Amino acid sequence: MAERTFSHEDQAFVERLDQASQCHMAWTRRVLRCALLRTSPGDDVLAEDAHARCDFGLWFRRNRERFETIDAATARHLEAQHQRMHVAVRAICRGVLAGAPGDPATLDAFERAQTAVVADLAHLKTAFLSHSARVDALTGLPLRHGLEEDFLRYRASAQRHGERVVAILMDVDHFKRVNDTHGHAVGDLALGHVADVLRTLCRGGERLFRFGGEEFLALQQAPDAGAAEHAAQRLLQGLRDAPLRLPQDAGTLQLTMCAGLAESGPDESMASVVDRADKALYQAKAAGRDCWRWARPPD
Ligand code: GH3
Ligand code: MG
Ligand code: MG
Repeated sequence: MAERTFSHEDQAFVERLDQASQCHMAWTRRVLRCALLRTSPGDDVLAEDAHARCDFGLWFRRNRERFETIDAATARHLEAQHQRMHVAVRAICRGVLAGAPGDPATLDAFERAQTAVVADLAHLKTAFLSHSARVDALTGLPLRHGLEEDFLRYRASAQRHGERVVAILMDVDHFKRVNDTHGHAVGDLALGHVADVLRTLCRGGERLFRFGGEEFLALQQAPDAGAAEHAAQRLLQGLRDAPLRLPQDAGTLQLTMCAGLAESGPDESMASVVDRADKALYQAKAAGRDCWRWARPPD
């Protein structure tokens, strides 16, 4: 199974958050220099729209959507506090340069806003890192970490509704060939495509995870075994009917997969259910490809 790696893009995002924090802490030094040496802190501090022109302000707006998905309320708070900090620091520096007496209220406002900006940035960094650990960067699907807990809650809820939970473990057929024939980058594209197709096919009451390299897991809350079989057919056929369009007009790539289905026993562990689904998946592979099999009941 592929180990989860932190993408370059994720890394750059975290570095940028750290830089933003350091850069806004450094503003205290700029104000101090301005006050002690009576030198201008620079146009980027004194301009009316400095908050929108500063590197962080520009970067924040370009990445607003991403910030919103991490924590929308903190992102909005950060934006407002960042603007307040700029307004306060401009007032302080302009006052100093004009020889006006210091205003404690403006200084307090600056300190409060700066503290809030730094705290918000730290909070967003933590939230982002914990989100990235749970979500696969390639497909955007949740990863298996913490799945056991999710699974137990999901099964308890299904049982309350008199329903069962079925694990549908899927594995793309002959995926090594895709990498060998078209290269790893197309392989990645194909995995993103499979995830998109499966995500579209999943219905309410079904949850999809990237389980490993080219393996996906759907948990289905099903009224009976027939509903799970229909779901497996829907997923297999959906992928079969949605060939990947290769880059540079290089034609299309037909993808299929196999699935192993296992209905959870009332007290069975997640590991045991998945293990049985995996054995059923193996049976499906042995029967050819592009098909599914039920697992044997738990011992
Ligand atoms: P089968 O029909 O029996 O499942 O054949 P397969 O070729 O799919 O079998 P196997 O499990 O041996 O190969 C899976 C391949 O998936 C091997 C691995 O290099 C590739 N793979 C796993 N994760 C990734 C990934 O994130 N990106 C790409 N491009 N390839 C991956
Ligand atoms: Mg595999
Ligand atoms: Mg495979």
